[in-house]
Amino acid sequence: MLASDLRQFLPPQCCVPDDISRCLQQGRHLFASHCESSLILAQAALDSACTLEHSALQAEALILLGQSQQVLQQTDVALASFQRALVLGKRLESCAIQSVACEGLALCYQNLRQNPKALQAWLNALELGLQSGEPVRYIQAYLGIGSLYFQHENYEQACYYQAQAVEWSQLQDDRDLQAKARLHLAATLIKMNDYSLAEQLLQQTENILLLPVRLSWQAEINHYLGLIQMARQDWPRAEHYFQAAHALNVTTASRWGQTQSLISLGQLSALKGDLQAAIVHLQDALQLAEQQADDHLRQQIHAELSALYEAQGDYVRATAHHIEFHQFYLQLLKQNTSDQLDALSSRRLKQAEIKLQLLRSELEVKQLMQQRSLEHERMQQLENAAFHDALTGAFNRHALDEQLPVLLQQARQDGSTLCLIMIDFDHFKQVNDGYSHQVGDEVLKTGIRLLLALTRETDLLARFGGEEFVLILPRKNAQLARRVAERMRQEIEQFDWAALAPGLAVTISLGCAQWHSGMGIDDLMAAADQALYQAKHAGRNQVCLAPVPPTGAAQ
Ligand code: GH3
Ligand code: MG
Ligand code: MG
Repeated sequence: MLASDLRQFLPPQCCVPDDISRCLQQGRHLFASHCESSLILAQAALDSACTLEHSALQAEALILLGQSQQVLQQTDVALASFQRALVLGKRLESCAIQSVACEGLALCYQNLRQNPKALQAWLNALELGLQSGEPVRYIQAYLGIGSLYFQHENYEQACYYQAQAVEWSQLQDDRDLQAKARLHLAATLIKMNDYSLAEQLLQQTENILLLPVRLSWQAEINHYLGLIQMARQDWPRAEHYFQAAHALNVTTASRWGQTQSLISLGQLSALKGDLQAAIVHLQDALQLAEQQADDHLRQQIHAELSALYEAQGDYVRATAHHIEFHQFYLQLLKQNTSDQLDALSSRRLKQAEIKLQLLRSELEVKQLMQQRSLEHERMQQLENAAFHDALTGAFNRHALDEQLPVLLQQARQDGSTLCLIMIDFDHFKQVNDGYSHQVGDEVLKTGIRLLLALTRETDLLARFGGEEFVLILPRKNAQLARRVAERMRQEIEQFDWAALAPGLAVTISLGCAQWHSGMGIDDLMAAADQALYQAKHAGRNQVCLAPVPPTGAAQ
């Protein structure tokens, strides 16, 4: 973005707070893709906020300024910006501002490899984050602590904090944070040789990161995928990923990223046996690492180069690189021994952790309960849909086919009776033809509602097809069934159908059959159907009973 394009977002000379907020908003918007632009906007916003003596906006501007400076590797000025923001945050009594400022400080110290200070700052960020009640804050702090452990090659601890961050981030609606947490954890898992889990996490990260502005993260994903393929000895795919990562790192002008890609390409060439190509990649990497004055990278590259020259039989160069390596090694060792977590830090960490655990279980329980009730509801809906007729709400044929054998088996076991009633709407074709199909539907709905009101919990009323229904009455003999059927017939006959459509009258015919032990399902249905046919034949709007065998045979 050109400087002239930015001008429209700068606060005017006599500005109001809204102008500054807008400017900051645009700055934040450009942060990932054009960090230089967000730096310009943050500086302008800061100047205007100072003129207005608006502390909150000053703090906001300082944080964006610090973040931009930090990304652009202006670490010293970034430190100063965050420190000023921290002072303002204290004055404003805002835990959130203080926590973000501490995060910024921690990242700066980490860049400067001042790990004890970085850890202190992360702890402050964590505690303030907890007080602010903003999960994003303590997720960031967890990631920060995780990456410190990662740098110390304590991968198990790193994994612990990063896994927590992943879990917490899942509860938040922040894709960047979710992606970042997964990316960190994947890097650690690769170190722990857990490639398949790392690969899964990276794939998830790619899915989360739909935004093209996150090129640097995509570079990281490619880099890690390359490492995984290298560990699996799939050289062509590893090369493909490393090259892709390198190209992205060139695009985003990330020197650190480019150095990493070159180191990996060098390692890959060495594994493939092309020592000369490996040396070329690593020399390029060394040049970049010197520009950044990154001791860790330099130490690593010198070790690699020393081994490569040794393999080539060039002992002079091998020794020279080994000496360089050793110097950095001693220097970093000294630094690292003072880096150990001191007692105070670990106590503070423990306390914060206990608070977090409480919060987490509270949230988890809430989520679980919500999930359970949603699942339950959904299961019920599915069950409903699977076993009920959509129009009338009666059971459907499927339910009947499933339940009838069960009910019969029960009757067999208990030696109890069971009746089946076949119900058919009379001259229903005439209802459809004379009124309309919709009225026909309404009649079926209302009719079944009336019939259901006359059934008991243990009865089963199912739509058999069209305007035909089946009612199963467990533990009822033919006389009782006939009584139920008769009540149903009357209920339908007496209902005020004319209110639904003028002149409408509806009746039903019913055929009852009592089951006896010699009968199968088909026999029982046929008997009821036969009785229904009789009822129709006798003029409809009637109840007919299938002949009941003598008492002895009924048992
Ligand atoms: P009967 O008294 O002999 O049973 O005569 P009927 O007209 O009721 O019998 P028939 O089997 O000839 O016709 C049944 C009609 O029921 C035909 C069909 O269009 C109608 N029908 C079936 N299912 C539905 C439905 O879901 N909605 C509506 N509106 N009509 C239906
Ligand atoms: Mg009919
Ligand atoms: Mg019919």
